[in-house]
Amino acid sequence: MVGGGQLARMTHEAGIPLGIRFKLLSDTPQDSAAQVVGDVVVGDYRDLDTLRAFARGCDVITFDHEHVPTEHLRALEADGIPVRPGPEALVHAQDKGVMRARLEAIGVPCPRHRIVADPADVAAFADELERDGYDAPSGEGGGGRRAGGFPVVLKTVRGGYDGKGVWVVGSAEEAAEPFRAGVPVLAEEKVDFVRELAANVVRSPHGQAVAYPVVESRQVNGVCDTVIAPAPGLDDELALRAEEMALRIAKELGVVGHLAVELFQTRDGRILVNELAMRPHNSGHWSMDGAVTSQFANHVRAVLDLPLGDPRPRAPWTVMVNVLGGDYPDMYSAYLHCMARDPRLKIHMYGKDVKPGRKVGHVNTYGDDLDDVLERARHAAGYLRGTITE
Ligand code: ADP
Repeated sequence: MVGGGQLARMTHEAGIPLGIRFKLLSDTPQDSAAQVVGDVVVGDYRDLDTLRAFARGCDVITFDHEHVPTEHLRALEADGIPVRPGPEALVHAQDKGVMRARLEAIGVPCPRHRIVADPADVAAFADELERDGYDAPSGEGGGGRRAGGFPVVLKTVRGGYDGKGVWVVGSAEEAAEPFRAGVPVLAEEKVDFVRELAANVVRSPHGQAVAYPVVESRQVNGVCDTVIAPAPGLDDELALRAEEMALRIAKELGVVGHLAVELFQTRDGRILVNELAMRPHNSGHWSMDGAVTSQFANHVRAVLDLPLGDPRPRAPWTVMVNVLGGDYPDMYSAYLHCMARDPRLKIHMYGKDVKPGRKVGHVNTYGDDLDDVLERARHAAGYLRGTITE
């Protein structure tokens, strides 16, 4: 696996019972996965020679992030190394412009969008939205339709994560910042969503695929905070449509492994695709304790072209809450209280240094009563972080 973050750490964990030899290319020996994997190469994934040397002797290569240059992946494939997901699929998770164009071509509903070159282009896009009768989201700032088609969401097409590389601008004058980096920018209508959902599926080279129940994903300051499985109150028909859409995207794009399709549920009952991730994903962490087969176990099975495991939930409700770094560098002392309070609680820490706002772990818990499960998960994450003290 290329990339030494927590996703690699948890994928490695899922491969252990299968007796799989796991080799890691990590930026540093201290990275989350590098601490626990036996066979670690420290090197730069942007360097083709490093990648080639790493890949020698591997049966298959997969990733914990989407940043390996597409041309390097093509070179590895040309060397005869199976790359899963392959570059032609992965490019849709690397480049939001490519992703939007392809989804549009296969008829998947997305926010209205356009690649823009400068603030004048953004103004032209906003005009177009206004002409089409764009109802800007209600909420802060008054609501209803706004003058000139704003606000507009601007995104760098490559390299963004956790809300970095995303701007919401209220006018063309505010739109200078995203163009400073000199990379292409995607403009999107600001969707009036009631909540964010994720449809997670896994597909193998054989074309076998499984769909996890659609989950609700709640963000705080652009970072995933809470995931509820399944999404509460989601209409059966809408849930089925979202699962089918994710399975179709996986098939049309030739995805191998785990695919997370991040969705907006709109006020008028539609679902629109926000973005794609082709690797295990934060919206699937609940499955480690809440599903018969976790996203990590199924990702491993898929990249090895083994039959996939049952994705169904084990309890009526499972809630995942991320543990972000808080004021206390040592979270271990909180284990006693958390474990004693909730015997169903599962703590997953990533071995990362605690820095404010950084994802350092997550908790999962489950049960029959959603309010109770949510309260237990939030309490544990807050207590570990130090924002709750009793
Ligand atoms: P990242 O690559 O950082 O995950 P996303 O495209 O997922 O970027 O955007 C981050 C967050 O910004 C989303 O989870 C959502 O809350 C908000 N967002 C993104 N695009 C839109 C949009 N078109 N309309 C409204 N909100 C959006």
